[in-house]
Amino acid sequence: MTAAAGQEEQLWSRCAGCASLLYRKRLRRNLDVCPECGEHSRLGAPERLRQLVDPGSLRLLPDRLPEADPLDFVDVLPYPHRLTAARAATGLPEAVVCGVATIGEHPAALAVMDFRFLGGSLGTAVGELITRTAERALDDRVPLILVTASGGARMQEGALSLMQMATVSQAIAALREAGLLTVSVLTDPTYGGVAASFATNTDLVLAESGARMGFAGPRVIRQVTGRALPEGFQTADFLLRHGQVDMVVQRRSLRGRLAALLAAARAGRPARTPVPRQEPARDHERLADAVPPAAADGGPPPEVVDAWDTVRTARHPGRPTTLDYLDSVFDGFVELHGDRLGGDCPAIVGGIARLAGRHVMVIGHQKGHTTADLVARNFGMASPAGHRKALRLMRLAARLGLPVVTLVDTPGADPGISAEEQGQAAAIAENILTLTVLPIPVVTVITGEGGSGGALALGVADRVLMLQHAVYSVISPEGCAAILWPDRSAAPQAARALRLTAPDLCRLGVVDEIVPEPAAAAHDDPAETARRLRAALLTNLVPLLDVPPAMLVRLRRQRFRRFGATRAGSTQVGAR
Ligand SMILES: [Zn+2]
Repeated sequence: MTAAAGQEEQLWSRCAGCASLLYRKRLRRNLDVCPECGEHSRLGAPERLRQLVDPGSLRLLPDRLPEADPLDFVDVLPYPHRLTAARAATGLPEAVVCGVATIGEHPAALAVMDFRFLGGSLGTAVGELITRTAERALDDRVPLILVTASGGARMQEGALSLMQMATVSQAIAALREAGLLTVSVLTDPTYGGVAASFATNTDLVLAESGARMGFAGPRVIRQVTGRALPEGFQTADFLLRHGQVDMVVQRRSLRGRLAALLAAARAGRPARTPVPRQEPARDHERLADAVPPAAADGGPPPEVVDAWDTVRTARHPGRPTTLDYLDSVFDGFVELHGDRLGGDCPAIVGGIARLAGRHVMVIGHQKGHTTADLVARNFGMASPAGHRKALRLMRLAARLGLPVVTLVDTPGADPGISAEEQGQAAAIAENILTLTVLPIPVVTVITGEGGSGGALALGVADRVLMLQHAVYSVISPEGCAAILWPDRSAAPQAARALRLTAPDLCRLGVVDEIVPEPAAAAHDDPAETARRLRAALLTNLVPLLDVPPAMLVRLRRQRFRRFGATRAGSTQVGAR
């Protein structure tokens, strides 16, 4: 991370590309692009906004959110200390700056991320601010421009950070439906949960020269695969070659290019009936009010177990898999294969089955009980083809009017080289977005490991259930420990800090209901586990069948809208 303080006073700086010593003022006049080698150095959000919008046109949206430390997260430092340090270093309240402005006299709403602030990480405040910007765009009927710079979701806010991927995505979906242009501008670097949601599920994706974007970072991929990465991996040109971005744009052309796109969108905007606006979350209209309450018999209150023990139970090789449940909970499963684009990922299984006589579409991650099974199924880590297969089946279900049941059990999405080449981030992002508008009931069960964006790609549902000893997390405890402690042996502490157990997530509202497991855990009595899962599925799914599709979608969006700052703190901020 570069020191931002005192940058103005510095007279000279050294180019990270060619090591030339450059006169600072000359560099700034050249938009922080090296005149010698063309290296685009990273920009903070204020400077980026200055470069992009018409002078004097910017009106900032309120950006002061209440302190948010929803998990009381402590690694080697308490999270609030990290926030305070980031604020002092950047002069910004959070990792995004939002406003409305004109670009070439065309109005737009903009959210610009700032990598200097905790790596541009996406937490509840950042998600809330970007969502409000999208809602403002919808109110004003203007396009939305997102400039991304982020390492991914903010670990210190756990699964609530993960939920922001859905929250922002559904705000983008509302703009899509209203016929309003959404554009993301990828800048260096854009990774993880940001890449796998609003950075890539906009109408248009522009990459600034020199930007790198991917789901998994190069270090992780090298660790996992043990292979050297190809030249130019994940760079803007790589993304263009692999069909993942619309264009690569030099910084000096970015403003003009955006102005031209805004002009085109303005000219071509069809006269459409506006979709009904999403009501603010504080209406507290919830599925619970629209459908009869589920049976209150949730079994005995779960005893307190250490989070790390739960992680190990969730990963137990004997734990029932999706195919086991398809055999025991459902009847007449007909498996459907392929993404229709050239792949059939073994880590995702899906197809039509019956649940107590009703046809449903079941989609789930598949692990295995033996090493050979696990390897054959890529340990339940879906490739882009797997996510696209799931997407195809979701859409098919919608056309056929079949409810969708998803079973989540994955350490995370496949972080391999070819997964990146085939657009892992965009594949996950498209699933999340599609689920937010799917006009049929969706019930998700976290059955084992709910790992990060790969879990959420099947997890944006009307009802989210969780088996008692399952876990659901924004990052694996090992990954979190390696980054924040930084030592993988701190994984047990990280597991506790992340609040990834079913009782924790129920408290946070991420999960609606815990499905109790027989003693000691699911793998000890798979038949009883199946019986309980089937009962929970029916209790939660059947009431949804009577809810009209438009209302289902509206309530689902409200469910994922409430993970913003209102949940993290108070509602004192903003116009709503
Ligand atoms: Zn240079």
